[in-house]
Amino acid sequence: MYDTSVDRRALLGGAGLLAAGLTFSATRVWAQPAFASDPFTLGVAAGDPAPDGFVIWTRLAPQPLEPNGGMPMAAVPVRWEVAEDDGFRAIARSGQAFAPPELAHSVHVEVGGLKPARRYWYRFRTGSDAVSLTGTAMTAPAAGALPEKLRIAVAGCQFYQPGYFTAYRHLSQEPDLDLVFHYGDYIYEGNGNGDGTPVRRHIGEECQSLDDYRRRYAQYKLDPDLIAAHAAVAFAMSFDDHEVDNNWAGDHDQDGTPPAQFVLRRVAAMQAWYEHMPVRAAQAPRHGAVHMYRRLDYGQLLRMHVMDTRSYRDPILCGQGGENGCNTKDDPTRTMLGRAQEAWLADGLGSTARWNLIAQQVLVMPFDVRPDGTTESVFPQDTWNGYRGARRRLVKTVVDRKLTNVVIATGDAHQHAVGNVPADDRTPDGPAVASEFMATSISSGGDGGPRKRRQQDMLRHNPNLLLLNNQRGYQVHDISAERWDTDVKFIEKVSVRNAPLKILARFSVDPKQPGPQSA
Ligand code: FE
Ligand code: CA
Repeated sequence: MYDTSVDRRALLGGAGLLAAGLTFSATRVWAQPAFASDPFTLGVAAGDPAPDGFVIWTRLAPQPLEPNGGMPMAAVPVRWEVAEDDGFRAIARSGQAFAPPELAHSVHVEVGGLKPARRYWYRFRTGSDAVSLTGTAMTAPAAGALPEKLRIAVAGCQFYQPGYFTAYRHLSQEPDLDLVFHYGDYIYEGNGNGDGTPVRRHIGEECQSLDDYRRRYAQYKLDPDLIAAHAAVAFAMSFDDHEVDNNWAGDHDQDGTPPAQFVLRRVAAMQAWYEHMPVRAAQAPRHGAVHMYRRLDYGQLLRMHVMDTRSYRDPILCGQGGENGCNTKDDPTRTMLGRAQEAWLADGLGSTARWNLIAQQVLVMPFDVRPDGTTESVFPQDTWNGYRGARRRLVKTVVDRKLTNVVIATGDAHQHAVGNVPADDRTPDGPAVASEFMATSISSGGDGGPRKRRQQDMLRHNPNLLLLNNQRGYQVHDISAERWDTDVKFIEKVSVRNAPLKILARFSVDPKQPGPQSA
């Protein structure tokens, strides 16, 4: 069925996979692949734009839910094209990469040599006649340029079972998006949910092995709305907890599994994450660990710090619920980012960009979730509320640098929330040091609802909060040098297909005055 006689090293000739920082010895090559069915079932994706290019991704999987995606244990040559037009008449760059069995036949090409601040189209081919769908992505502006505007969406938390990914269909039709920041929970490892009746089901039990995670990603990536979103815009991917296990923290899971044992699972999960994400070779696992945090610069307008709030944090205190009094047990030396990432962020905040976007996963601002009628505060311990010393250090960094231009993008809680991070978390009605926009889930939590009464209680207990809503959707940020405008978007139902997208609220931020304002 496939030619095993070709030495792949001979074919590679020092390019292809070597460019991805990964070298292989003579793995077998399927020199002239012939597919009985479409190998591009999982779509295409682009990611991490730079002024001269971006990553393009695909994975060959003619039978995506079968072991190995229905592929033989051989590397397969894949040709790629990047063009200035969607008809591929003006090819800007092209080449050949290999889809290796070691990486589930995924392809990550770091395209370079493109022009800044331009739209491009890309596609892949393999075998005699298989062609992927066409994706499109924007390159970032040149390093010294001050672009007039940028448009960045924020989305995540896409639990497959409780709802359709309709919000992604709408996102794929958003005009002029430069980028989507994905705050994580791209897959959910488990099947348990408190979301009522599932509208569709995971295949298989809770993920543990590499094959389990690969199949879970494949099932999610078959979703046509998700495929459409990736084809329409480049993503900056991160991960949160459910790419591995609910509420994991460093080498610890929530069940007290011995760390050495949990780490084996995390290694498998991280490999599958890399295999399915349009990220650069710098984010490929090394000895099982992914260095996920990185920066994306959009000229002089925006510096985006993509953060990892899972891999280096201290264990969560008091379990996941945020029990009463738990906040008093916090130890000022506890870390959310780990020392190296904390120093890296402080260093990067010294740039001259007009805006700093800290793109991360869990809520930074004080968020008292006590039931109404009770007097004692309750803070969710999986968020920065469980790491108050780390939050104080973050605030101090921003204050010491006299930065008024810090905006934080957050996810995880399956709610839209807009508010500010106060200078002192004991006085949440005091001066603000940063704006925080928490984007709700694509589908996690199911339909939800406005729950107005509970929202009113929450706003009363949290004076730093301007908006809270428990429906599904995403946010879009329109960014210019003078102002930052945010549209909070939602859909009323994910339990049925094709629900329309609506705007819930609009906010603006002044780069000289931290804290969002109702627009
Ligand atoms: Fe989630
Ligand atoms: Ca989460």
